[in-house]
Amino acid sequence: MKITDVRTYLLESPLQRPFAYSRGWADRRSAVLVEISTDDGLIGWGEAFGPGRMAIGALKLVRPLLIGADPLAIEKIWDDLYGRFRDHGSKGPLIDALSAIDIALWDIKGKHFKLPVHRLMGGPLRTSVPAYASGLFRYRDGDIETNLVKEAERHLARGFRAMKMKVGFGVEADAKAVKTVRKTIGSDISLMIDANGAYDAVNAIRLAHRIDDCDVAWFEEPVPPEDIEGYLEVKARQPIPVAGGEAEFTRFGFRDILARRAMDIIQPDICAAGGFSECKKIADMAHAFGIRCSPHTWGTAIAISASLHWLALLPNTTSALYPIPPLLEWDCTEHGIRDALLTDALRPVDGVAKIPEAPGLGVEIDREVVRKFEIQ
Ligand code: CA
Repeated sequence: MKITDVRTYLLESPLQRPFAYSRGWADRRSAVLVEISTDDGLIGWGEAFGPGRMAIGALKLVRPLLIGADPLAIEKIWDDLYGRFRDHGSKGPLIDALSAIDIALWDIKGKHFKLPVHRLMGGPLRTSVPAYASGLFRYRDGDIETNLVKEAERHLARGFRAMKMKVGFGVEADAKAVKTVRKTIGSDISLMIDANGAYDAVNAIRLAHRIDDCDVAWFEEPVPPEDIEGYLEVKARQPIPVAGGEAEFTRFGFRDILARRAMDIIQPDICAAGGFSECKKIADMAHAFGIRCSPHTWGTAIAISASLHWLALLPNTTSALYPIPPLLEWDCTEHGIRDALLTDALRPVDGVAKIPEAPGLGVEIDREVVRKFEIQ
């Protein structure tokens, strides 16, 4: 079998209700998809976490190197592409592109052998995973506390037993918001906070102490991703477990985080950190270091399905009678493209998502939807 074509799609969908996180406003959602065809007639789909035109540019750059290659020799393709560009592309859009290609190749491999990706890679270790509601952003309309209470109640009504809220808007405002949400959801529901790297270590530590009675399960990206010393300081000087890594790439990037024990929970994104091949390695490395791995997921049906197959492969932390279950991040914000591509099989029911069982990723891509949202 040989690769005959690699097509890229940049999709965009405006938001009806723009939202803000700690570093700015979002008024649209986008998606970067890749479709790889073979001379056997098999097609594989992949998705890159971002960023839009940069990831598309990187995909177009590597396209000529893929034509004619054996799509089943995924490790070789990964190594060839990474090796070719590593001096200038060991992090960022090139690895996002490589992630999308790797996911598409595993989709092809699964369809070829008529098995879901997680079975080809040695799974499943589990057939379903709990999902957490990822949302609780800021909106222009309404007041902050009322919006948070209403949204938290919606997540509870849908059966989520865990949710994550945005912080990074100022220590006092954050403390008030976190206390409001904790009061709304009661003590039985897990609550995580995410600053998207908006704080320095001083303010991250101040916030953590201001909410030490809120039982926060993790503090995500308290400081910018490149501030490893800051992560270590936040870890050492406040009680909440520290998470991060959605902006890190490959086994080499995570090696440094793990070796320095800079985070309690790493959160690689399968559509950014290097795809299935690389994320399996990263998770196994984390396991060897005794550090938890909880995937970051922020995309359409392809990203969600890929994350679910990977979640089926994550080693248990630890090998106990009651291991800590890994969680699926379920993006609860508006996303026209995601909703149009999603099938019911991928949606969590009562806060639990099933691992897909159809060959490959187990996702059918509706070309009408792709055409509708495509901008180039
Ligand atoms: Ca995040």
